[in-house]
Amino acid sequence: AGRLQGRRCFVTAAGQGIGRAATLAYAAEGASVLATDRDAGKLAGLEAAGIETQALDVLDDAAVAAAIAGAGPLDILFNCAGFVHQNTVESCTDGDWDFAFALNVRAMWQTIRAALPGMLEKGGGAIVNMASACSSVKGAPNRFLYGTTKAAVIGLTKSVATDYVTRGIRCNAVCPGTVDTPSLGERIAANAAAAGGLEQARGAFVARQAMGRLATAEEIAALVLYLSTPESTFVTGQAVVIDGGWTL
Ligand code: NAD
Repeated sequence: AGRLQGRRCFVTAAGQGIGRAATLAYAAEGASVLATDRDAGKLAGLEAAGIETQALDVLDDAAVAAAIAGAGPLDILFNCAGFVHQNTVESCTDGDWDFAFALNVRAMWQTIRAALPGMLEKGGGAIVNMASACSSVKGAPNRFLYGTTKAAVIGLTKSVATDYVTRGIRCNAVCPGTVDTPSLGERIAANAAAAGGLEQARGAFVARQAMGRLATAEEIAALVLYLSTPESTFVTGQAVVIDGGWTL
Protein backbone atom coordinates (compact mmCIF):
# COMPACT_ATOMS: atom_id res chain seq x y z
CA ALA A 1 0.00 0.00 0.00
CA GLY A 2 1.10 3.57 -0.65
CA ARG A 3 2.25 5.94 2.05
CA LEU A 4 -0.97 7.96 1.76
CA GLN A 5 -3.47 5.10 1.72
CA GLY A 6 -6.74 6.31 3.25
CA ARG A 7 -5.64 9.96 3.30
CA ARG A 8 -7.84 12.70 1.87
CA CYS A 9 -5.96 15.41 -0.06
CA PHE A 10 -7.07 18.72 -1.53
CA VAL A 11 -4.97 20.53 -4.14
CA THR A 12 -5.44 24.00 -5.65
CA ALA A 13 -4.12 24.86 -9.12
CA ALA A 14 -3.86 21.17 -9.92
CA GLY A 15 -4.36 21.59 -13.66
CA GLN A 16 -0.74 21.99 -14.70
CA GLY A 17 2.80 22.43 -13.46
CA ILE A 18 3.71 21.65 -9.86
CA GLY A 19 0.08 21.26 -8.70
CA ARG A 20 -0.59 18.60 -11.28
CA ALA A 21 2.66 16.77 -10.54
CA ALA A 22 1.89 16.75 -6.80
CA THR A 23 -1.66 15.54 -7.46
CA LEU A 24 -0.33 12.58 -9.45
CA ALA A 25 2.27 11.86 -6.74
CA TYR A 26 -0.42 11.85 -4.02
CA ALA A 27 -2.61 9.50 -6.07
CA ALA A 28 0.33 7.19 -6.76
CA GLU A 29 0.77 6.86 -2.97
CA GLY A 30 -2.83 5.72 -2.61
CA ALA A 31 -4.40 8.99 -1.46
CA SER A 32 -7.93 10.02 -2.30
CA VAL A 33 -7.37 13.36 -4.04
CA LEU A 34 -9.70 16.21 -4.92
CA ALA A 35 -7.85 18.17 -7.60
CA THR A 36 -9.10 21.69 -8.25
CA ASP A 37 -8.21 24.44 -10.72
CA ARG A 38 -9.80 27.64 -11.97
CA ASP A 39 -9.62 26.19 -15.47
CA ALA A 40 -11.63 22.93 -15.52
CA GLY A 41 -10.21 22.07 -18.95
CA LYS A 42 -6.71 21.75 -17.47
CA LEU A 43 -7.93 19.04 -15.07
CA ALA A 44 -8.73 16.78 -18.02
CA GLY A 45 -6.94 13.47 -17.84
CA LEU A 46 -6.63 13.35 -14.04
CA GLU A 47 -9.86 11.38 -13.67
CA ALA A 48 -8.30 8.55 -15.66
CA ALA A 49 -5.79 8.27 -12.79
CA GLY A 50 -8.65 7.86 -10.30
CA ILE A 51 -8.52 11.49 -9.16
CA GLU A 52 -11.66 13.54 -8.46
CA THR A 53 -11.67 16.94 -10.12
CA GLN A 54 -13.62 20.13 -9.55
CA ALA A 55 -13.42 23.63 -11.02
CA LEU A 56 -12.43 26.10 -8.28
CA ASP A 57 -11.25 29.69 -8.47
CA VAL A 58 -9.48 30.26 -5.15
CA LEU A 59 -10.35 33.98 -5.36
CA ASP A 60 -13.99 33.04 -4.68
CA ASP A 61 -14.22 32.70 -0.88
CA ALA A 62 -17.68 31.10 -0.87
CA ALA A 63 -16.66 28.56 -3.51
CA VAL A 64 -13.49 27.70 -1.55
CA ALA A 65 -15.47 27.11 1.64
CA ALA A 66 -18.05 25.00 -0.22
CA ALA A 67 -15.44 22.91 -2.06
CA ILE A 68 -13.50 22.12 1.11
CA ALA A 69 -16.68 21.34 3.07
CA GLY A 70 -17.76 19.08 0.22
CA ALA A 71 -14.42 17.28 0.17
CA GLY A 72 -14.98 16.03 3.72
CA PRO A 73 -12.36 16.22 6.49
CA LEU A 74 -8.90 16.61 4.95
CA ASP A 75 -5.60 15.08 5.96
CA ILE A 76 -3.57 17.09 3.46
CA LEU A 77 -4.00 20.52 1.89
CA PHE A 78 -1.62 21.66 -0.84
CA ASN A 79 -2.03 25.36 -1.60
CA CYS A 80 -0.35 25.65 -4.98
CA ALA A 81 -2.25 28.50 -6.69
CA GLY A 82 -0.19 31.61 -7.37
CA PHE A 83 0.72 34.12 -10.05
CA VAL A 84 4.11 35.53 -10.99
CA HIS A 85 4.10 39.23 -11.82
CA GLN A 86 7.27 40.52 -13.45
CA ASN A 87 7.61 44.05 -12.07
CA THR A 88 9.51 46.54 -9.94
CA VAL A 89 8.33 48.92 -7.21
CA GLU A 90 7.86 51.50 -9.99
CA SER A 91 6.03 49.42 -12.60
CA CYS A 92 3.73 47.59 -10.14
CA THR A 93 0.16 48.91 -10.38
CA ASP A 94 -2.44 49.13 -7.60
CA GLY A 95 -4.41 46.44 -9.43
CA ASP A 96 -1.39 44.14 -9.63
CA TRP A 97 -0.84 44.55 -5.89
CA ASP A 98 -4.41 43.69 -4.94
CA PHE A 99 -4.61 40.75 -7.34
CA ALA A 100 -1.30 39.20 -6.23
CA PHE A 101 -2.06 39.48 -2.52
CA ALA A 102 -5.57 38.08 -3.07
CA LEU A 103 -4.33 35.08 -5.05
CA ASN A 104 -0.90 34.34 -3.57
CA VAL A 105 -1.68 35.07 0.09
CA ARG A 106 -5.32 35.70 0.99
CA ALA A 107 -6.58 32.59 -0.80
CA MET A 108 -4.28 30.46 1.40
CA TRP A 109 -5.85 31.97 4.50
CA GLN A 110 -9.28 31.06 3.11
CA THR A 111 -8.42 27.44 2.27
CA ILE A 112 -6.62 26.87 5.57
CA ARG A 113 -9.46 28.43 7.55
CA ALA A 114 -11.92 26.13 5.79
CA ALA A 115 -9.75 22.99 6.19
CA LEU A 116 -8.66 23.37 9.81
CA PRO A 117 -11.86 22.29 11.62
CA GLY A 118 -11.90 18.97 9.74
CA MET A 119 -8.18 18.41 10.37
CA LEU A 120 -8.55 19.19 14.08
CA GLU A 121 -11.51 16.82 14.27
CA LYS A 122 -9.30 14.10 12.75
CA GLY A 123 -6.53 14.91 15.21
CA GLY A 124 -4.04 16.17 12.66
CA GLY A 125 -3.19 17.27 9.19
CA ALA A 126 -0.45 18.49 6.89
CA ILE A 127 -0.63 21.82 5.07
CA VAL A 128 1.88 22.65 2.34
CA ASN A 129 2.00 26.18 0.94
CA MET A 130 3.69 27.17 -2.30
CA ALA A 131 6.20 29.96 -1.66
CA SER A 132 9.38 30.51 -3.72
CA ALA A 133 13.10 30.98 -3.23
CA CYS A 134 12.25 34.48 -4.45
CA SER A 135 10.68 35.68 -1.18
CA SER A 136 12.23 36.48 2.20
CA VAL A 137 14.88 33.88 1.18
CA LYS A 138 16.34 35.95 -1.67
CA GLY A 139 15.56 38.80 -4.00
CA ALA A 140 15.29 38.32 -7.76
CA PRO A 141 15.38 41.04 -10.43
CA ASN A 142 11.99 42.33 -11.60
CA ARG A 143 10.06 40.28 -9.02
CA PHE A 144 9.08 43.05 -6.59
CA LEU A 145 5.44 42.06 -6.06
CA TYR A 146 5.98 38.32 -6.45
CA GLY A 147 8.78 38.19 -3.88
CA THR A 148 6.75 40.34 -1.49
CA THR A 149 3.74 37.99 -1.63
CA LYS A 150 5.85 34.83 -1.35
CA ALA A 151 7.59 36.26 1.74
CA ALA A 152 4.10 36.74 3.16
CA VAL A 153 3.36 33.06 2.44
CA ILE A 154 6.36 32.10 4.59
CA GLY A 155 5.10 34.33 7.44
CA LEU A 156 1.60 32.87 7.13
CA THR A 157 3.07 29.35 7.17
CA LYS A 158 5.11 29.91 10.34
CA SER A 159 2.14 31.53 12.05
CA VAL A 160 -0.21 28.61 11.31
CA ALA A 161 2.50 26.14 12.35
CA THR A 162 2.96 27.97 15.66
CA ASP A 163 -0.70 28.20 16.58
CA TYR A 164 -1.50 24.53 15.87
CA VAL A 165 1.79 22.79 16.71
CA THR A 166 0.34 21.04 19.76
CA ARG A 167 -2.79 19.90 17.92
CA GLY A 168 -1.34 17.65 15.25
CA ILE A 169 -1.33 20.20 12.44
CA ARG A 170 1.90 20.77 10.52
CA CYS A 171 2.30 23.63 8.08
CA ASN A 172 5.32 24.02 5.79
CA ALA A 173 6.23 26.07 2.73
CA VAL A 174 8.20 24.99 -0.33
CA CYS A 175 10.57 27.48 -1.93
CA PRO A 176 11.52 26.40 -5.46
CA GLY A 177 13.99 28.00 -7.82
CA THR A 178 12.94 28.11 -11.48
CA VAL A 179 10.72 25.23 -12.56
CA ASP A 180 9.93 24.27 -16.14
CA THR A 181 6.13 24.68 -16.20
CA PRO A 182 3.63 26.15 -18.70
CA SER A 183 3.57 29.54 -16.95
CA LEU A 184 7.37 29.76 -17.09
CA GLY A 185 7.00 29.38 -20.85
CA GLU A 186 4.70 32.43 -20.81
CA ARG A 187 7.23 34.46 -18.78
CA ILE A 188 9.99 33.47 -21.19
CA ALA A 189 7.83 34.56 -24.13
CA ALA A 190 7.08 37.87 -22.39
CA ASN A 191 10.83 38.52 -21.97
CA ALA A 192 11.84 37.41 -25.46
CA ALA A 193 11.77 40.83 -27.14
CA ALA A 194 13.93 42.49 -24.46
CA ALA A 195 16.33 39.52 -24.33
CA GLY A 196 16.84 39.37 -28.10
CA GLY A 197 14.92 36.14 -28.73
CA LEU A 198 13.21 33.19 -27.07
CA GLU A 199 16.42 31.17 -26.66
CA GLN A 200 18.16 34.11 -25.01
CA ALA A 201 15.19 34.68 -22.66
CA ARG A 202 15.14 31.01 -21.69
CA GLY A 203 18.92 31.07 -21.28
CA ALA A 204 18.65 33.90 -18.75
CA PHE A 205 16.38 31.75 -16.55
CA VAL A 206 18.69 28.73 -16.89
CA ALA A 207 21.74 30.89 -16.09
CA ARG A 208 20.28 31.74 -12.65
CA GLN A 209 20.38 28.07 -11.70
CA ALA A 210 23.77 26.94 -10.43
CA MET A 211 23.11 23.46 -11.81
CA GLY A 212 22.72 24.92 -15.27
CA ARG A 213 19.21 23.58 -15.72
CA LEU A 214 15.66 24.20 -14.60
CA ALA A 215 13.77 21.99 -12.14
CA THR A 216 11.05 19.66 -13.33
CA ALA A 217 7.63 19.87 -11.71
CA GLU A 218 8.15 16.26 -10.53
CA GLU A 219 11.29 17.23 -8.58
CA ILE A 220 9.29 19.83 -6.66
CA ALA A 221 6.35 17.44 -6.20
CA ALA A 222 8.70 14.99 -4.46
CA LEU A 223 9.33 17.59 -1.73
CA VAL A 224 5.63 18.45 -1.49
CA LEU A 225 4.95 14.73 -1.07
CA TYR A 226 7.59 14.36 1.65
CA LEU A 227 6.10 17.28 3.61
CA SER A 228 2.67 15.65 3.29
CA THR A 229 3.57 12.12 4.38
CA PRO A 230 4.13 10.68 7.87
CA GLU A 231 7.87 10.64 7.05
CA SER A 232 8.00 14.34 7.86
CA THR A 233 6.02 14.27 11.12
CA PHE A 234 8.73 16.25 13.00
CA VAL A 235 8.91 19.02 10.36
CA THR A 236 6.75 22.09 10.79
CA GLY A 237 6.91 25.82 10.13
CA GLN A 238 9.76 25.43 7.64
CA ALA A 239 10.39 27.23 4.38
CA VAL A 240 12.18 24.45 2.52
CA VAL A 241 14.37 25.66 -0.33
CA ILE A 242 14.61 23.46 -3.45
CA ASP A 243 16.46 25.59 -5.96
CA GLY A 244 19.25 23.76 -7.80
CA GLY A 245 21.77 25.93 -5.99
CA TRP A 246 20.26 29.34 -6.83
CA THR A 247 20.85 30.50 -3.25
CA LEU A 248 24.38 29.09 -2.97
P1 NAD B 1 1.48 27.32 -13.66
O1 NAD B 1 1.68 28.75 -13.24
O2 NAD B 1 1.97 26.92 -15.00
O3 NAD B 1 -0.05 26.93 -13.54
C1 NAD B 1 -0.84 27.56 -12.59
C2 NAD B 1 -2.19 26.88 -12.50
O4 NAD B 1 -2.95 27.68 -11.59
C3 NAD B 1 -2.97 26.83 -13.81
O5 NAD B 1 -3.48 25.53 -14.00
C4 NAD B 1 -4.09 27.86 -13.57
O6 NAD B 1 -5.29 27.52 -14.26
C5 NAD B 1 -4.26 27.80 -12.08
N1 NAD B 1 -4.84 29.01 -11.50
C6 NAD B 1 -4.54 30.28 -11.80
N2 NAD B 1 -5.31 31.12 -11.11
C7 NAD B 1 -6.11 30.36 -10.33
C8 NAD B 1 -7.13 30.65 -9.39
N3 NAD B 1 -7.51 31.91 -9.13
N4 NAD B 1 -7.74 29.61 -8.75
C9 NAD B 1 -7.39 28.34 -9.02
N5 NAD B 1 -6.44 28.00 -9.92
C10 NAD B 1 -5.81 29.01 -10.57
O7 NAD B 1 2.10 26.37 -12.54
P2 NAD B 1 3.49 26.45 -11.77
O8 NAD B 1 4.50 27.23 -12.56
O9 NAD B 1 3.78 25.07 -11.33
O10 NAD B 1 3.17 27.36 -10.50
C11 NAD B 1 2.43 26.87 -9.41
C12 NAD B 1 2.88 27.57 -8.14
O11 NAD B 1 4.28 27.40 -7.97
C13 NAD B 1 2.62 29.08 -8.11
O12 NAD B 1 2.21 29.45 -6.81
C14 NAD B 1 3.99 29.65 -8.41
O13 NAD B 1 4.17 30.95 -7.88
C15 NAD B 1 4.88 28.65 -7.72
N6 NAD B 1 6.27 28.64 -8.19
C16 NAD B 1 6.55 28.41 -9.50
C17 NAD B 1 7.87 28.45 -9.91
C18 NAD B 1 8.23 28.23 -11.36
O14 NAD B 1 9.38 28.54 -11.73
N7 NAD B 1 7.36 27.71 -12.20
C19 NAD B 1 8.90 28.68 -9.00
C20 NAD B 1 8.57 28.88 -7.66
C21 NAD B 1 7.24 28.87 -7.26
